[in-house]
Amino acid sequence: MLTLIPLPAFEDNYIWIWHDTRHAVAVDPGEAAPVIAYLDAHGLTLAAILVTHHHRDHTGGIPQLRQRYGCAVHAPNNPRIPGVTHFVRGGDTIDLPAPALRFAVHATPGHTLDHVSYLGHGCLFCGDTVFGCGCGKLFEGDAAMMAASIETLLALPDATRVCCAHEYTLSNIDFALTVDGENPALLERARNDRALRAAGQPTLPSTLALERATNPFLRFHEPSMQAFAAMRLGRSCPTPAEVFGTIRAVKDAWDG
Ligand code: ZN
Ligand code: FE
Repeated sequence: MLTLIPLPAFEDNYIWIWHDTRHAVAVDPGEAAPVIAYLDAHGLTLAAILVTHHHRDHTGGIPQLRQRYGCAVHAPNNPRIPGVTHFVRGGDTIDLPAPALRFAVHATPGHTLDHVSYLGHGCLFCGDTVFGCGCGKLFEGDAAMMAASIETLLALPDATRVCCAHEYTLSNIDFALTVDGENPALLERARNDRALRAAGQPTLPSTLALERATNPFLRFHEPSMQAFAAMRLGRSCPTPAEVFGTIRAVKDAWDG
């Protein structure tokens, strides 16, 4: 029996914890305190940490957790990530003995160049690549790179549970409504996720089916999104990467 929960950290981060009755995995522990509190409360020890990318809000808790638990730390090869015991890159497989979990590593550059996502047992830990109804900002990569990363995630099954590293969903929905406001699936998601947040619940994990249907950053193959980009660019037939890049640029301006 495995339990998967998003532990809130900082303002809007989630540290995903996946555990059996004794051992846990933590994904992107930006701070140690909430992880230690949860593990103590449930009589667990930390077996492994998975890291998606080098940003501090995903790595800040590693030194303290590693010192306390002596856990394995799987992360991309980037000197800005402390305490790494196992470097990973796209195409790798990670086998954890306890909890017994196997992950496939996908290279998903765009937000950062080192960004990877972890897929295991139907759950995708995609860090700051895909958010609920949104995607990460292009700090190091460009639109073509991020669109290619998202394209690889679009090949995963509909039922894949999407475990993002931030609770940005409601704000992302507000933006999505400005570019795709006629989409009935998006309107339904807005109702459902606003109710979840009003009840103090996370909107995540979502599913890849829901993101496909509602997330404008995964919909660059949709005629409606292509038409939106064509209008903004003032020319017809933009490529998928151009559609993605246009929506990302409009969102950056909307964020202010
Ligand atoms: Zn980040
Ligand atoms: Fe982040």
